[in-house]
Amino acid sequence: MKGPVKMSKKTLLIAVLGLSCATTYAYNVSGTKWPGAATHLYIGIPGTAPSGVTWSEALRRSALDWTANTPFTFNTISSYKDPCNGYSVNSQASGFPDGQGDGLNGTDFTTTVCGNNYGTNVLAVTLVYTESNLLGAFDITEADVVFNANSRFDIYDGTMSQSRGTDFERVALHEFGHVIGMSHEQSATSIMRATIGNSFTLQDDDIAGATALYNGYRNCPFTDLSFGRRNGSLSSGDCTVQELMGGGDDPSLVDVYQFSLEQATTVNIDMTSPSLDSVLVLMTGKSEVIEIDDDSAGACNSRINRTLPAGDYAVLANTFAGESDCGDTFGPYELTMSYASNGLLGLPGRASLQGGNANASFSGAVTSNKGQSYSNLVRSTQSVDVTGQITVDPVHRGKAGFIVVAALLDDGEILLRDSIGQLISYDPQSGNIPKFKSKTLAAVENVAVLSNTVPAQLGISSIVVDFLIGYGVDSDPNELYFHAAPINLTVTP
Ligand SMILES: [Zn+2]
Repeated sequence: MKGPVKMSKKTLLIAVLGLSCATTYAYNVSGTKWPGAATHLYIGIPGTAPSGVTWSEALRRSALDWTANTPFTFNTISSYKDPCNGYSVNSQASGFPDGQGDGLNGTDFTTTVCGNNYGTNVLAVTLVYTESNLLGAFDITEADVVFNANSRFDIYDGTMSQSRGTDFERVALHEFGHVIGMSHEQSATSIMRATIGNSFTLQDDDIAGATALYNGYRNCPFTDLSFGRRNGSLSSGDCTVQELMGGGDDPSLVDVYQFSLEQATTVNIDMTSPSLDSVLVLMTGKSEVIEIDDDSAGACNSRINRTLPAGDYAVLANTFAGESDCGDTFGPYELTMSYASNGLLGLPGRASLQGGNANASFSGAVTSNKGQSYSNLVRSTQSVDVTGQITVDPVHRGKAGFIVVAALLDDGEILLRDSIGQLISYDPQSGNIPKFKSKTLAAVENVAVLSNTVPAQLGISSIVVDFLIGYGVDSDPNELYFHAAPINLTVTP
């Protein structure tokens, strides 16, 4: 994160498609973008081009080209909205127009740019309203497109034709690039050239630019985050917020983690470090910032505690750019994620030993108070239960089969529970899978992974264990169906 929170302000950018020329470079984005990688667009311009295609249909197809080929989504609305509504011309010496807009993205043919003259040879103008964001460059809050009513337009593919007039559809395609936050660039085959040419569909360079702008956290290397504890460190060479956001001017280091929730869950994420000034950022799967925290866990440590609906999320382990008054802006950290819930959690991701696919689902959780509430963080002196549940693939129900329980330790050791409840070290090379239970498989199998276990009584004061549950059928004894996201148990003194 960049530093003190910026004051929110609105700016208005104007982007023009004309016939002049500029320098050469690859796709050009400032990082200014729509939160959530989507917006609506009113396309109800009345009338029909000489070719017989309606203006509205050309707008719809142009919007669809961006939606189909990039991470951005236009939701087109067939009714009309005045693009100049809420727009006002600034009387200040700067000459820049001003206004708050109306929050609606309109399109129309106009004889002026909402009161200002179109420049010479200007075919269309996109008016972009922005405001400051918590992270990265500004958010776009509204973008309206006006087409010069004094130009002669038609709608056609292929080479530009003097006699037919300008192809309206490729002009719209270009302007919609400005709507999503693309700037001009001059590579020969780009729709985002400042001057109109023979390209009439999105080009690779346009798609690469929009993808960098809207890929969000996927612009950086990312790893799966499951409940439990892990160590990391921020150091030069790591991804930066600038890279992650596809622009902006925030060079602070960031490690990226993603996780999925199968149901509404209260999660607690702590990022602690003896030296680093940690900052946590929680994002949706579409890289919309949900929350940023700097010091909630005391000292220079950060914490986010939040009830989240089912869905995909990203966590950014971040710090400040340059200097911080509360520790270093690089160094090691520990990330701990825990949950509190009223029942078992769905365990996303299916896996198998031999690559087979079962239509099974898995859930599980840890409780330290007889199932009244669930959390993976427990004290060593508490009595712990770990419960799992398997919804068996319908084709396997009623068949002779077996249940397997595995415990994965911090140091990489794998332990399997045998039929008398002992944990046996497992060697994947041996091929021999100790079975927790052999039985006729029911539709739902409840698995008591641990019952009334007090870690301190076993001499354990601190441990992190990931449990997996799985099942197989006797007719295919080497195959095992299980889940990717483990049931985490984190024991602290
Ligand atoms: Zn332009």
